[in-house]
Amino acid sequence: MSNKKEIEKIIGDIPCMDCKTDKNIVWFTDNVFWNSVMEGVKGSGILCIFCFVLRAENKYKLIGWRLSPEWQWKKRANIRDLLTKKKKDE
Ligand SMILES: [Zn+2]
Repeated sequence: MSNKKEIEKIIGDIPCMDCKTDKNIVWFTDNVFWNSVMEGVKGSGILCIFCFVLRAENKYKLIGWRLSPEWQWKKRANIRDLLTKKKKDE
């Protein structure tokens, strides 16, 4: 089984300014961390996750990354329901 078609649905269309890939998902990190890593960098300000991680790990001694979801605004109020729905349905 291949996830290629599913992956195509989540990639963006703005190329990464470092590696030029257009296979970049919509993502962000907190402003303080982003600004620290990107301090003095000129360019589009669009990076793929891999290129941001490379920049961050070249600047800081990091041991891993935490991934967290960004919910649609209309669903935010129901995050608890979304996260517990499967349990209720089981
Ligand atoms: Zn990149």
